[in-house]
Amino acid sequence: MSRYLVILLSLYSATSALSIPFIHDAEQTVFNTHAPADLPHPNPTHSFWTHTPGANPLAGVGSTGALTDEADVCIIGAGITGVSAAYHFANTVGESAFPIPEGETKLRVVVLEARDFCEFRCHGWRNGGNLTPYEFLEFRKVEAQFGREAAMRYYAMEHYTSTEMARIARAGGWADAVDLVEGGHMDVMLTEARLAEVRADFDAAIAAGKRVNVTWLSREDMQSAYGTYNWGVRSPGYNVWSLKFVTQLFRQANATARSALDLRLHTRTPVTSITPLSASVSARKWALDTPRGAVKCTYVVHATNAYASHLLPHMAGPGPAGIVPVRGQVLAMRANASLAALSTTSWVGNAGYWFPRPVHSADEAPLVILGGARTAAGAPFEVGVTDDGEINPSVGRVLRAFLPALFPGMYEPGREPEAEWTGIMGYTTLNIPFVGPVLDVARPDAHAGQFIAAGYAGHGMPRAFACAEAVVGMIAAERAGRVWEAPAWFPAPFLTGVRDAPQE
Ligand SMILES: Cc1cc2nc3c(=O)[nH]c(=O)nc-3n(C[C@H](O)[C@H](O)[C@H](O)COP(=O)(O)OP(=O)(O)OC[C@H]3O[C@@H](n4cnc5c(N)ncnc54)[C@H](O)[C@@H]3O)c2cc1C
Repeated sequence: MSRYLVILLSLYSATSALSIPFIHDAEQTVFNTHAPADLPHPNPTHSFWTHTPGANPLAGVGSTGALTDEADVCIIGAGITGVSAAYHFANTVGESAFPIPEGETKLRVVVLEARDFCEFRCHGWRNGGNLTPYEFLEFRKVEAQFGREAAMRYYAMEHYTSTEMARIARAGGWADAVDLVEGGHMDVMLTEARLAEVRADFDAAIAAGKRVNVTWLSREDMQSAYGTYNWGVRSPGYNVWSLKFVTQLFRQANATARSALDLRLHTRTPVTSITPLSASVSARKWALDTPRGAVKCTYVVHATNAYASHLLPHMAGPGPAGIVPVRGQVLAMRANASLAALSTTSWVGNAGYWFPRPVHSADEAPLVILGGARTAAGAPFEVGVTDDGEINPSVGRVLRAFLPALFPGMYEPGREPEAEWTGIMGYTTLNIPFVGPVLDVARPDAHAGQFIAAGYAGHGMPRAFACAEAVVGMIAAERAGRVWEAPAWFPAPFLTGVRDAPQE
């Protein structure tokens, strides 16, 4: 038997669960009926990102003392969506497009976060850290679902998000502090069938007129460059310490310190319900109820991703308006090779995604962040799970075997990871987020003043920042009494309401 056949067979046996067409199985389960999501688990697993000492200086900000009693805008959730919204308020309020309230000198914005800003608890920063815009992947499906123009914008938005996040970090002088690495991205393909699928998406994107910036690598190229005998296609991409990124973004929003904005943060303050206020009681529209008291708000931004349906039960999955929580698992594994041998690339392949962290010296073996393998959990593939207080041992077993099998000799089989954790993603039936006013077809006026950006289907890093920007633009337009004009990169199908009508 040839060496490469042995490698391939051992890979398949080590990751046999991964060779199941898990995407289809897992997606099917998203369509099962689910109750509204729970609140975020109070005692989540410790992620490498959040548990490293000093990584979370804002952890408990605003968790004690007096709670802000009212605000013009309340943002629920301090992940990338909520903090991007705060950042965009900081950058636009006071401009002619975003006037401050009549009779007031400042626009008051408050961020309410159920857990810590991030350490031990904040959810999104429990993720894999890949900031990877799709160049053309799934183009045929996206074009068939949404049409060509929306498909072009779908990819343009990811490009915009990633490059804008990198630009802000560099311009702010904190790219190194958040470990922003422009190492590119590699999709690795283990079978000819998968290669043909990816090629067909590439061809479709080119035929549609999209500029596609990729390099194809043969199995031999991949073997000599990276030590894995599989096909590859390389595209632009980043990886980043996401918690540090969001911390810097929040600080920058504060530092922008436009005299027209009053930005506050209350961590460890879950919003448990939202109650309408009658005009005779308050000029504000909504009371956000928390265990520390209520905050009265004129506008509400739901930046709660997987947990959105806790406060918006009509958004419980399935259905065109639903967001379903899905648990993902990640581990931090020490490699057995140098960063030069592994490369600074972010990778995706065979239901796993991974990238090596930066090192302090050339001979240091990097820590590699690896996630995926949800199929190994068995049906229903972690769908409907909001408990990130525990890990799934079956998923953990497959993840541990994954890299030693794919890169023989570069990882030590049987080596235990240095950290392992879970986090909750928000899936939608079409794998695209909801961005815009909260709409309930059964009660069209029931949520006036409430907006949402959520449901990134496990691919939020290159989307959430821009989706929050769009929502801030919508609130600014509504305040100024004008119609919101979508940015050139905004795909119309992301807009709430476009999918709320039942689909054939
Ligand atoms: C394990 C895992 C790995 C991932 N890997 C990647 C990856 O490599 N690349 C990628 O692009 N994406 C990845 N993702 C997805 C990505 O992390 C998310 O899409 C992104 O974090 C969404 O950001 P968000 O701010 O909308 O939501 P979140 O980060 O989930 O933030 C929502 C916040 O709202 C808070 N909240 C919820 N309900 C309430 C309430 N009622 N009151 C107050 N606060 C509330 C939560 O505590 C949370 O902090 C991964 C996700 C997981 C779980």
